Amino acid sequence: MKILKFGGTSVGTPQRIQNLAQIVQNEESSIVVLSAMAGTTNALVEITELLYKGDDKNALQKIEDLEQSYISRVNELYKSDKYLTKGLELINSHFVYIRNFVHKTFTQLQEKAVLAQGELISTAMFHYHLAENHIDSVLLPALNFMRIDKDGEPDSYYIQENLKREIGQHSQSKLFITQGYICRNTYGEVDNLHRGGSDYSASLIGVAISAEEVQIWTDIDGFHNNDPRFVENTHAISELSFDEAAELAYFGAKIMHPASVLPCKLSNIPVRLKNTLSPIDEGTLISTKLNRKRIKAVAAKDGITAVKIKSGRMLLAYGFLRKIFEVFEIYRTPIDMITTSEVAVSLTIDDTSKLKEIEAELEKFGIVEIDKNQSIICIVGDFISEASGSAKLVFEALEETPLRMISYGGSNHNISVLVDQKNKVEALKSLNKLFS
Ligand code: ADP
Ligand code: ASP
Ligand code: MG
Repeated sequence: MKILKFGGTSVGTPQRIQNLAQIVQNEESSIVVLSAMAGTTNALVEITELLYKGDDKNALQKIEDLEQSYISRVNELYKSDKYLTKGLELINSHFVYIRNFVHKTFTQLQEKAVLAQGELISTAMFHYHLAENHIDSVLLPALNFMRIDKDGEPDSYYIQENLKREIGQHSQSKLFITQGYICRNTYGEVDNLHRGGSDYSASLIGVAISAEEVQIWTDIDGFHNNDPRFVENTHAISELSFDEAAELAYFGAKIMHPASVLPCKLSNIPVRLKNTLSPIDEGTLISTKLNRKRIKAVAAKDGITAVKIKSGRMLLAYGFLRKIFEVFEIYRTPIDMITTSEVAVSLTIDDTSKLKEIEAELEKFGIVEIDKNQSIICIVGDFISEASGSAKLVFEALEETPLRMISYGGSNHNISVLVDQKNKVEALKSLNKLFS
């Protein structure tokens, strides 16, 4: 069985939904994981923000606008009166539900429930579309099997047991449809896997049923060697190893959710990135295979904060770094990059929600300097041997870019540099020379 995940743009219009029907029909047996239609989750986020503020008037207007956009899509997608009626009833029921939250105290619990509506609508619409075209499919409610534990981590045992039970109830069926992104938490409440989380859903589902392959279908022809949003002349890479893909996704390659690679790596399930707009394209295959190439790809992640702790006490002392790391551990803030000298340590964080507290604690150890608005640029390639000279090529390409930190040697396939966010695009463009 294969998992086919389609992102927001792939289900973004009635015509795209019709194209999906063609793609999924070619498979022998599969679970199709869908995101919400493009723009829906953003609109739902805006609605929840207005509801938190108690701005009911604007919330109602946004709800109305979103509902109208769905009514036009339904009118375009379904041909028969039967499915037009079913489609309109579906939309009405979800929007009655959303409107229920207006004029009331709005909590995080309700926010999650509102955010889940996008995926619930897109999957039901697709299911009806298949039914209207006499294609059998089973709609599997993700809320019956997808679950996170008290730390927000997927509950693999629960997912596997419950997904298998759900599938087992339809032993004759070959085509299943389910929602990406949404799940329940340890208290059984509706929750989600964070923005872009449908990719993560797909890999968790793939692992739970030991799928033959997980396919991520999107609006581009594969994993590109540089960020196509900022750099011209990028191209799809045909093969990447799990580690390379994980590194690039973590450091900003938006094509994949950063958490989605690891589960597939651990279960050795290949991941294929495919283009919905051009299904014949080969795409990118992510597997255990390591294709040795000097420099394969670059990616960048914005919104990084650098923290420097300068202290004479670090000189010849052991245990100093442990104390520093403990502060980040207490405040549950992951560190991405780290560099040290005898008198200072610099590190970077992405989540600044506890920065004030962290800074206050670190001041006990020395002088703390904070630089916000930084970007990590990650260069992935074969850096095993000095003889390959790859590092030299990277730094030559970046000779015009002021570098705040450099991380080299952490793994065999990655060099990361920290630059001011305003220099990021130029740096990515300069690095593109490495591929010509
Ligand atoms: P979906 O809605 O299908 O999940 P996303 O917008 O999350 O799609 O991801 C696809 C987009 O990721 C592409 O349109 C592209 O602009 C962006 N992107 C960023 N970096 C890369 C990269 N290295 N390779 C391919 N696409 C990338
Ligand atoms: N719909 C969700 C989002 O927009 C999840 C996803 O698309 O992966 O973030
Ligand atoms: Mg995405």
